Amino acid sequence: MKQKKLLYAGKAKSVYRTDTKDTLIVEFRDDITAFDGGKKDVLKNKGSYNAGVSAFFFEYLNNNGVKTHFIRMLDSSHMAVHRLDMIPLEVIVRNIAAGSIVRNYPFKEGTKLSPPVIVIDFKDDSRHDPMLNDDLIVALKLATPAELRKIKKIALEVNSLLSAFLAKQGITLVDFKIEFGRRGNVICLGDEISMDSMRLWDKKSGESLDKDVYRFDKGDVMQTYNAVTQRILKKSGSGRSPKRT
Ligand code: C5P
Repeated sequence: MKQKKLLYAGKAKSVYRTDTKDTLIVEFRDDITAFDGGKKDVLKNKGSYNAGVSAFFFEYLNNNGVKTHFIRMLDSSHMAVHRLDMIPLEVIVRNIAAGSIVRNYPFKEGTKLSPPVIVIDFKDDSRHDPMLNDDLIVALKLATPAELRKIKKIALEVNSLLSAFLAKQGITLVDFKIEFGRRGNVICLGDEISMDSMRLWDKKSGESLDKDVYRFDKGDVMQTYNAVTQRILKKSGSGRSPKRT
């Protein structure tokens, strides 16, 4: 498969056309950013860790009946995916109160949220991704009511599958963000599922195993990404371990 023209470059990933119709290549770059791009760095191999974990979880979800854009890895940081018409929503599922929900609402960090709380933000950097509600999503014609119901159902299914998998490795899935797109009229999971998009806590120590290590200078973020990648991929016996530092 040949990589062609750059279609889109985000803060940490670039998307390219290919010589195959409706197949794109996502490059997971070594860029890391936080606070709306206010903090940024380039960290060697970071892209391959996030790509490896995303590929693993996309395959796991595909095998469990959740449709995703994932086709296959081309190398440690390039993923072939089905082209989706992306829906500009950031769908966040929260099992435990942490991050912005604690800053913006009177929740105490660590409070269990049962049932999980779904928060949906408008993916629009120029507006700083404001939170939406169902009426706004429909009024803005971002999704139909039926699509929105489907998106929430899939988000909760993804939460159950990921939480169960991670729990077996002693990791609590605190929250995560996913994005969806349309393939024809089928809603599919796109984007990534990685340490950049999940909040993960070690069950025993409570320590952060995700981008919070970078956001809040909690330690060596690459050491954390390496360790959590090995923990996730080793458990599965996957041979697709990304490059080691
Ligand atoms: O910052 P906040 O607490 O709202 O983030 C909730 C979850 O969504 C975290 O796991 C975070 O990493 C993820 N997120 C993301 N991209 C964003 C906003 C949040 O991956 N633009």
